[in-house]
Amino acid sequence: MTIRTGIGYDCHRFALGRALVLGGVEIPFERGLEGHSDADVLSHAVTDALLGAAALGDIGEHFPDTDSRFAGADSIELLRSAVGLVSAAGFAAVNVDATVVLEAPRLAGFREAMRGRLADAIGIELARVSVKATRGEGMGFVGRGEGAAAIAIATLRELGE
Ligand code: MG
Repeated sequence: MTIRTGIGYDCHRFALGRALVLGGVEIPFERGLEGHSDADVLSHAVTDALLGAAALGDIGEHFPDTDSRFAGADSIELLRSAVGLVSAAGFAAVNVDATVVLEAPRLAGFREAMRGRLADAIGIELARVSVKATRGEGMGFVGRGEGAAAIAIATLRELGE
Protein backbone atom coordinates (compact mmCIF):
# COMPACT_ATOMS: atom_id res chain seq x y z
CA MET A 1 0.00 0.00 0.00
CA THR A 2 1.41 3.38 -0.99
CA ILE A 3 1.15 5.96 1.77
CA ARG A 4 1.57 9.69 1.23
CA THR A 5 1.89 12.39 3.87
CA GLY A 6 1.35 16.13 3.66
CA ILE A 7 1.82 19.10 5.94
CA GLY A 8 -0.22 22.28 6.22
CA TYR A 9 0.37 25.53 8.10
CA ASP A 10 -1.71 28.69 8.33
CA CYS A 11 -2.06 31.79 10.47
CA HIS A 12 -4.58 34.61 10.69
CA ARG A 13 -4.74 37.87 12.62
CA PHE A 14 -7.36 38.48 15.33
CA ALA A 15 -9.81 41.30 14.64
CA LEU A 16 -12.86 42.79 16.33
CA GLY A 17 -16.26 42.24 14.77
CA ARG A 18 -15.43 38.79 13.39
CA ALA A 19 -16.71 35.37 14.44
CA LEU A 20 -14.06 32.93 15.67
CA VAL A 21 -14.46 29.77 13.60
CA LEU A 22 -12.08 26.86 14.16
CA GLY A 23 -12.57 23.46 12.55
CA GLY A 24 -16.01 24.57 11.40
CA VAL A 25 -17.13 25.38 14.96
CA GLU A 26 -18.03 28.91 16.04
CA ILE A 27 -16.36 29.58 19.38
CA PRO A 28 -17.59 32.38 21.65
CA PHE A 29 -14.83 35.00 21.99
CA GLU A 30 -14.55 38.78 21.84
CA ARG A 31 -12.56 38.65 18.62
CA GLY A 32 -12.44 36.49 15.52
CA LEU A 33 -9.88 35.87 12.82
CA GLU A 34 -9.55 38.19 9.86
CA GLY A 35 -9.52 36.85 6.31
CA HIS A 36 -11.25 36.71 2.94
CA SER A 37 -13.11 33.52 3.89
CA ASP A 38 -14.32 32.76 7.42
CA ALA A 39 -10.56 32.59 8.27
CA ASP A 40 -10.88 29.15 9.85
CA VAL A 41 -7.15 28.67 10.37
CA LEU A 42 -7.54 25.03 11.47
CA SER A 43 -9.58 23.98 8.44
CA HIS A 44 -7.11 25.80 6.18
CA ALA A 45 -4.11 23.94 7.63
CA VAL A 46 -5.94 20.61 7.30
CA THR A 47 -6.91 21.43 3.70
CA ASP A 48 -3.29 22.23 2.83
CA ALA A 49 -2.08 19.01 4.48
CA LEU A 50 -4.47 16.94 2.35
CA LEU A 51 -3.65 18.83 -0.86
CA GLY A 52 0.04 18.57 -0.03
CA ALA A 53 -0.09 14.81 0.48
CA ALA A 54 -1.57 14.47 -3.02
CA ALA A 55 0.88 17.06 -4.46
CA LEU A 56 -2.10 19.11 -5.63
CA GLY A 57 -0.78 22.56 -4.77
CA ASP A 58 -2.22 24.65 -1.97
CA ILE A 59 -5.45 26.19 -0.76
CA GLY A 60 -4.63 29.62 -2.20
CA GLU A 61 -4.25 28.13 -5.64
CA HIS A 62 -7.63 26.36 -5.61
CA PHE A 63 -9.62 28.94 -3.63
CA PRO A 64 -7.86 32.29 -4.25
CA ASP A 65 -8.58 35.18 -1.89
CA THR A 66 -8.85 37.42 -4.93
CA ASP A 67 -11.95 35.50 -6.08
CA SER A 68 -15.20 37.04 -4.81
CA ARG A 69 -16.83 33.57 -4.85
CA PHE A 70 -14.80 32.76 -1.74
CA ALA A 71 -15.59 35.96 0.19
CA GLY A 72 -16.87 34.87 3.60
CA ALA A 73 -16.61 31.24 2.46
CA ASP A 74 -17.34 28.41 4.87
CA SER A 75 -13.90 26.78 5.06
CA ILE A 76 -15.40 23.40 5.90
CA GLU A 77 -16.95 23.50 2.42
CA LEU A 78 -13.56 24.41 0.92
CA LEU A 79 -12.11 21.42 2.79
CA ARG A 80 -14.87 19.22 1.37
CA SER A 81 -14.02 20.45 -2.16
CA ALA A 82 -10.32 19.78 -1.58
CA VAL A 83 -11.15 16.23 -0.45
CA GLY A 84 -13.00 15.83 -3.77
CA LEU A 85 -9.84 16.86 -5.64
CA VAL A 86 -7.73 14.47 -3.57
CA SER A 87 -10.17 11.65 -4.27
CA ALA A 88 -10.28 12.46 -8.01
CA ALA A 89 -6.47 12.23 -8.01
CA GLY A 90 -6.75 8.67 -6.67
CA PHE A 91 -6.20 9.06 -2.94
CA ALA A 92 -8.23 8.49 0.22
CA ALA A 93 -7.51 10.08 3.60
CA VAL A 94 -6.27 7.73 6.32
CA ASN A 95 -5.89 10.16 9.22
CA VAL A 96 -5.32 13.80 10.08
CA ASP A 97 -3.61 15.32 13.12
CA ALA A 98 -3.58 19.04 13.83
CA THR A 99 -2.50 21.55 16.46
CA VAL A 100 -4.04 24.99 16.90
CA VAL A 101 -1.69 27.54 18.45
CA LEU A 102 -3.39 30.45 20.18
CA GLU A 103 -3.25 32.25 23.51
CA ALA A 104 -7.02 32.40 24.11
CA PRO A 105 -9.72 31.20 24.29
CA ARG A 106 -9.35 27.71 25.71
CA LEU A 107 -10.43 25.13 23.13
CA ALA A 108 -10.80 22.02 25.30
CA GLY A 109 -14.60 22.23 25.38
CA PHE A 110 -14.82 22.47 21.60
CA ARG A 111 -12.31 19.83 20.59
CA GLU A 112 -14.82 17.02 20.00
CA ALA A 113 -17.10 19.25 17.93
CA MET A 114 -14.15 20.37 15.78
CA ARG A 115 -13.03 16.77 15.28
CA GLY A 116 -16.56 15.83 14.26
CA ARG A 117 -16.93 18.58 11.69
CA LEU A 118 -13.50 17.89 10.20
CA ALA A 119 -14.08 14.13 10.09
CA ASP A 120 -17.42 14.63 8.35
CA ALA A 121 -15.90 16.96 5.73
CA ILE A 122 -12.95 14.63 5.11
CA GLY A 123 -15.21 11.57 5.02
CA ILE A 124 -13.36 9.53 7.64
CA GLU A 125 -14.31 8.28 11.09
CA LEU A 126 -13.87 10.45 14.17
CA ALA A 127 -11.12 8.22 15.56
CA ARG A 128 -8.93 9.17 12.58
CA VAL A 129 -9.05 12.92 13.26
CA SER A 130 -7.04 14.52 16.05
CA VAL A 131 -7.21 18.16 17.13
CA LYS A 132 -4.85 19.50 19.77
CA ALA A 133 -4.25 22.99 21.11
CA THR A 134 -1.32 24.79 22.64
CA ARG A 135 -0.37 28.36 23.58
CA GLY A 136 2.42 30.73 22.68
CA GLU A 137 3.57 31.16 26.31
CA GLY A 138 3.64 34.92 25.83
CA MET A 139 6.08 34.75 22.91
CA GLY A 140 5.69 36.02 19.36
CA PHE A 141 2.45 36.99 17.57
CA VAL A 142 0.55 34.11 19.15
CA GLY A 143 1.78 34.90 22.64
CA ARG A 144 0.84 38.56 22.27
CA GLY A 145 -2.66 37.50 21.22
CA GLU A 146 -2.29 39.10 17.79
CA GLY A 147 -3.30 36.01 15.88
CA ALA A 148 -3.69 32.26 15.75
CA ALA A 149 -1.83 29.59 13.82
CA ALA A 150 -2.49 25.96 13.00
CA ILE A 151 -0.35 23.12 11.74
CA ALA A 152 -1.64 19.82 10.38
CA ILE A 153 -0.42 16.57 8.93
CA ALA A 154 -2.46 14.27 6.71
CA THR A 155 -1.86 10.71 5.59
CA LEU A 156 -3.37 9.41 2.35
CA ARG A 157 -3.44 5.96 0.82
CA GLU A 158 -3.48 5.38 -2.89
CA LEU A 159 -6.86 4.07 -4.04
CA GLY A 160 -7.13 0.83 -5.96
CA GLU A 161 -4.19 -0.86 -4.29
MG1 MG B 1 -5.93 30.82 5.81
